[in-house]
Amino acid sequence: MMKQKIIGVALLVAVVSAEQAGAQEAGAVIDAATKAMGTAGLQSIQYSGAGSVFMLGQNPRPEAPWPRFRVIKYDASVRYDVPGLREELVRIDDENPPRGGGAGGFVPATGQGGMRPILGEQRIVRQATPRTEVGQLQIWMTPHGFLKAAAANKATLAQAGGRRALTFTALGKYTVTGTLTDQNLVERVETRIDNPLLGDMVVESAYSEYRDVGGVKFPGRIVDRLGGHPTLDITVGSVRPNGAATLEIAAAPPAGEGGGALKATSERLGSGVWVITAGLNSVLVEFTDHLVVVEALGNDARSHAVIAEVKRLVPNKPLRYLVNTHAHFDHSGGVRAFAAEGATILTHEVNKPFFEKVLTLPHRINPDSLSKSPRKAAVEGVGARRVLTDGTQTLELHHIRGNLHNDGLLVAYLPRERVLVQADAFHPRPGAKPYPTPPQFTVNFVENIERLKLDVARVLHIHGGNDPMAVVAKAAGRP
Ligand SMILES: [Zn+2]
Repeated sequence: MMKQKIIGVALLVAVVSAEQAGAQEAGAVIDAATKAMGTAGLQSIQYSGAGSVFMLGQNPRPEAPWPRFRVIKYDASVRYDVPGLREELVRIDDENPPRGGGAGGFVPATGQGGMRPILGEQRIVRQATPRTEVGQLQIWMTPHGFLKAAAANKATLAQAGGRRALTFTALGKYTVTGTLTDQNLVERVETRIDNPLLGDMVVESAYSEYRDVGGVKFPGRIVDRLGGHPTLDITVGSVRPNGAATLEIAAAPPAGEGGGALKATSERLGSGVWVITAGLNSVLVEFTDHLVVVEALGNDARSHAVIAEVKRLVPNKPLRYLVNTHAHFDHSGGVRAFAAEGATILTHEVNKPFFEKVLTLPHRINPDSLSKSPRKAAVEGVGARRVLTDGTQTLELHHIRGNLHNDGLLVAYLPRERVLVQADAFHPRPGAKPYPTPPQFTVNFVENIERLKLDVARVLHIHGGNDPMAVVAKAAGRP
């Protein structure tokens, strides 16, 4: 008995001293890296460059890289004292052909966005502050920010990819790991953040080609990746440690903004057909003994607002299908909530393996309704065509072939109403200067409508609004 106690105490002492030694060792590594990088005296850093930016979740087909835009001017400022991070970039669309999305919403003031190719130069400003968890993580993932955070968050020493690594838990739930080169320079920082579709999504920044600028080491190349593909690839030109320029941080959003419950409204389009608007448009179609919704945009919260409106309009009928027009994240971030509701996901067959994977991905950082549901979600692939009908109500799904926006693009056609529901093949651009030649996205869309011999009176846009078919045909260069 006595012997056991002594052994127990000895073990406890051994564990505590091993922990202390580990902490001392990690501390020594942080100190060495801080010295090598010149981090201690660094309050801010500004740097400029050029390269490429890639738009998360806008790839032309699942598993393809995010689509690329050329960055002709890149300026970034990081302040560790405020703290905050600001990036300003000017991008052009020089991909030929411009496959995938990512042009952004149409901005009437600039006539930019809404459709690829982007005309001329487009300026984008991105800011990060500790007011959001992701903003705080972005600041801590910068090369010098990582070392400051490792020291402040009691990082421990680990191994990653054959390198010495420092790892710590940020904000109680994010594991941040940074590897160091043999010269004690921060080489790669990785964590995971929540994404409505991918769940606990890997975020990584790789730093290489370090240079010395007045005693401060800074990488000559920065590559950020989200969800396994690059989102930013910058070759750094000028670097100014402790630059004089102040970093403007946008004012905090008013209390309640973004925190309030999203509300959906609806408008009847025809017999048993409604457009449900919660920011953007979904469509509800009522059949004899079940319901179908077209498009689950955004995230869990938006889907719940749409589902609440569906239940208000037609109580007591099961939601059998959720139709997904394409796998871009803005159009599919809400599919998991519909799966949790028992709906089968109908999507083009090219997307089926992707959605089957997405419906099983872990969402530990921000558990959503499907991760809390015992339901096993189902996906059905649609080929060229699928007709849903009960003899009275009919909804036709057609594949839009050969569209550069997305390989697996579906449209939904209501023959009785002569309404065609479309996503991202046409965007209204009020007041914008016309394209020099009609964009492929729209020309191809109109060619498909003709090929399919659809008798379309109005086109309803998932991104908002609707237009007579003649307006869409004109945008495609038809007389
Ligand atoms: Zn899209």
